[in-house]
Amino acid sequence: MFNSSLRALSAMLAERKISSVELTQEFLARIDRHNPDLNAYITVDPEKSLAQARIADSMIAEGRMQPMTGIPVAQKDIFCSKGWLTTCGSKMLSGFVSPYDAHVIEKFNAAGAVNLGKTNMDEFAMGSSNETSFFGPVKNPWDRKAVPGGSSGGSAAAVAARMAPAATGTDTGGSIRQPAALCGISGIKPTYGLVSRYGMIAFASSLDQGGPMAKSAEDLAIMLNLMAGHDSRDSTSLVRDEEDYTRDLDCPLEGLRIGLPKEYFAKGLSPAVEKAVQAAISEYQKLGAKVVEISLPNTRLSIPVYYVLAPAEASSNLSRYDGVRYGYRAQGYGDLVEMYEKTRAEGFGAEVKRRIMIGTYVLSHGYYDAYYIQAQKLRRLIARDFSEAFGQCDVIMGPTSPSAAFDLGEKSSDPVEMYLSDIYTIAVNLAGLPGMSIPAGFGENGRPIGLQIVGNYFSEAKMLNVAHQYQKNTDWHLRMPSIE
Ligand code: GLN
Repeated sequence: MFNSSLRALSAMLAERKISSVELTQEFLARIDRHNPDLNAYITVDPEKSLAQARIADSMIAEGRMQPMTGIPVAQKDIFCSKGWLTTCGSKMLSGFVSPYDAHVIEKFNAAGAVNLGKTNMDEFAMGSSNETSFFGPVKNPWDRKAVPGGSSGGSAAAVAARMAPAATGTDTGGSIRQPAALCGISGIKPTYGLVSRYGMIAFASSLDQGGPMAKSAEDLAIMLNLMAGHDSRDSTSLVRDEEDYTRDLDCPLEGLRIGLPKEYFAKGLSPAVEKAVQAAISEYQKLGAKVVEISLPNTRLSIPVYYVLAPAEASSNLSRYDGVRYGYRAQGYGDLVEMYEKTRAEGFGAEVKRRIMIGTYVLSHGYYDAYYIQAQKLRRLIARDFSEAFGQCDVIMGPTSPSAAFDLGEKSSDPVEMYLSDIYTIAVNLAGLPGMSIPAGFGENGRPIGLQIVGNYFSEAKMLNVAHQYQKNTDWHLRMPSIE
């Protein structure tokens, strides 16, 4: 059952083979068994989850069933959930019980899905390894010595260890795709503006986007059907007709044009990852796809551009944590200014402080034009590379991450080395495009490898189709780490 698809679980619920309460209990028992070691969840609250499961069971009994009704879902601890501790991985919010639901949480609740718990993450989603969390690192279920990726590492590890059928994540520069790749699961970052950011704790607002993480593309499509949609409380939420993201899953791939950016297969890519990605491309050719070489010449600028813009936005967004209204407040201060200083010095971790300092610097008078404005101009060039490429191809493929999961502690003392692990994912956020990662093999030490698929704006249904066809012909996504 732990390996069942969302469709299979939903069918079991519909046929009364299992109740939502029983299903939730099964997953809670699994969390009990594995979470003490993996640390994928920050908060588990069986009473709350089971109360939701009982509501789901009555919805099912009354014939008010939707595809996600009764299904337990792990929620990244960046989504405000009413009555739940919502920490964003930070000491600053380590005692914050949210008084309201994020738009995404509202959607799951209204559909009768069960909140299974809040997953661990890098502090304020800043990181690629989950090591910046105030609640300690998450271990990769495939190899406890390895990181699960970040920032949605808790969600990725929870799904990989089958401690949840599916989870939510957010992706500012790769945080859905990279942990999905490193944990051998599937994840999609939708087009910017498709999923409301209301109640999703802000890191870099022009880049942040929520999305689903699950075992397969089909499961992602079912989740995205629920998560996407306009919300007037997020000013960048897009007004669009409702779409069924499962509608094209079974389309044949005959004639699909796959763009391979030559810059993605250059120095810095691990041979094992390159081999796995090439093998995936060959599989696609067997399915009738054609390969076109493309160029994304400004990719090399994406890391420096991101590390100007994301910290700039973060420094502004995080100014709200001042110890006055909510969150952590330092003890023992003389005056208001000292209270602010002590609160922020004690409440934020090192990586968050580093970003606030960089952001404040690039936005300050005298440096604004040289860094911030310059980065905005380059962001435009990066986006233009993609629009030119999509004149020649339908989807772009390449590695999600330059290597399989690295060891815990391996990069945590070298921020620049850590930043480089997002070289293939960040440009997609800068352009606002949708991107996904699916399992495509294993590398060194049996650690999973992800294939990245990038589509044009609003081509999620097509991308999910492309991923699903691969998953129908391969079984990487069905492999599970060897844990009971
Ligand atoms: N690893 C990147 C960072 O540290 C991206 C994180 C994210 O997507 N939230 O900023």
